[in-house]
Amino acid sequence: MESNYSYVDENLKLIRENVGEAAEKCGRKAEDIRIMAVTKTVAPEIVNHAIELGLDLLGENRVQEYLSKAEAYSPAEVHFIGGLQTNKVKYIIKSVSMIQSVDSLKLGTEIDRLAAKHGRVMDILCEVNIGGEESKGGVAPDKLREFIAQLAQLKNIRIKGLMTIPPPSQSDVFLGRMQELYNDLRDNKIEGADMQVLSMGMTHDYAEAVKYGSTLVRIGTGLFGARDYSRK
Ligand SMILES: *Cc1c(COP(=O)(O)O)cnc(C)c1O
Repeated sequence: MESNYSYVDENLKLIRENVGEAAEKCGRKAEDIRIMAVTKTVAPEIVNHAIELGLDLLGENRVQEYLSKAEAYSPAEVHFIGGLQTNKVKYIIKSVSMIQSVDSLKLGTEIDRLAAKHGRVMDILCEVNIGGEESKGGVAPDKLREFIAQLAQLKNIRIKGLMTIPPPSQSDVFLGRMQELYNDLRDNKIEGADMQVLSMGMTHDYAEAVKYGSTLVRIGTGLFGARDYSRK
């Protein structure tokens, strides 16, 4: 595959540099921050180019689109990161290694049920609506502990941390609040919920997110360029 896609090489190089720099500035190690390629609207051959460059984690938002592309992908780990309807869990339960967007007990219960049926335990993150925005999914911060305590009862899911999409303006304020929530859950542990992953930071705020303790940044536009919604 000779590179028509060399812009991806350059973008990834820049992202790695920025993550490294942001990490260094706050005394963290770049290896502790995982870079996810968010694939929505991006053709599988371009995604595969990113995988060849060493990106080993894909983020999928939409069940239909994922299913239509999954077979064409080179081997990589896949996390589901989009809004997920309970009746769609069955389509992804076998092939993804983590569901980052769990924000209701109903959804958690269905993941647990289907994971058991397939003889596996599913890693999940709880999505937090840190900005209290109506248009977004996620659990309200003041309901989070109770929510996690309920999820922790389910034996076929493993709670690994938190995910958020902060409001685009003042994102540093919200990133800071997420860090506080995450640290509090780590320091005042809920039995059955290990805080290992703090998934936050997108193209416009990933360097900021690293400063606030993110362990996984999810990058679409910054890696693949502006999305073209006319193609799927
Ligand atoms: C689209 C998307 C991203 C990536 O957004 P960019 O701004 O393109 O980097 C990250 N996380 C989620 C949940 C998304 O839907």
